[in-house]
Amino acid sequence: MRRQSQLIWLHVSNAASMWPAPMRFRADWGVTVVWRTGSFTRLEFGEPRSQAATMGLIATPTADLWRRGWYAPALALPSPNFGHRPVGVQVDLVVVHSISLPPGVYGGPEVLALFANQLDWDAHPYFQTIRGLQVSAHFFIRRDGQLLQFVSCNDRAWHAGASSYRGRDNCNDDSIGVELEGLEGDAFEAVQYRALAALIAAISTQYPLAHVAGHEHIAPGRKNDPGPGFDWTHLRLLVARPALRLPLD
Ligand SMILES: [Zn+2]
Repeated sequence: MRRQSQLIWLHVSNAASMWPAPMRFRADWGVTVVWRTGSFTRLEFGEPRSQAATMGLIATPTADLWRRGWYAPALALPSPNFGHRPVGVQVDLVVVHSISLPPGVYGGPEVLALFANQLDWDAHPYFQTIRGLQVSAHFFIRRDGQLLQFVSCNDRAWHAGASSYRGRDNCNDDSIGVELEGLEGDAFEAVQYRALAALIAAISTQYPLAHVAGHEHIAPGRKNDPGPGFDWTHLRLLVARPALRLPLD
């Protein structure tokens, strides 16, 4: 199936497999690249391959990249762990998390399996400690910046648990959860910050986003992710939206 080509402003390139349809990109230094499924053409922009690979989508994503709460540039892996949002809620919060399974091991399928309720609990001793857990997040950003989506942003994902923020409880009701592949307390990759900032910009085209906070801020004392290794000042610089409230404001 072919979709309409779409023109978007691209600050940086993205992982090849993330883009499911032919799309036209216009880099901010003027290069236009047409991207097709089936015959992937990697975005190079004249930059070294490694640098291109570490770039993420920034810019002003067009609203038509969204379909019923699904963001087209993300690889969609629908999770059964979601529910309807209460009627009339204002989705104005992005909650940043960190996760890796087993903790500190990156790049594997375990997080995806967890959100699909298909994790083999016996495959690793750590998994015994979370046996039976049914959770999800809307998005997952890999160490290389790859973006995956599990739940429509119009629906309620199961990432926050008991929580309270900006005077409202049950943050799952009216937030969007973004998991960064990482280890609580450790540092995150530059490309993950770029991908997160790009995603925040994209979410802002669809929802009245006003706050970004960590799981540690909405469930203090119970949760500690993403932890002290996450640089909120760096995210503030990348997001460049003064009206958006971050935990350091
Ligand atoms: Zn969390």
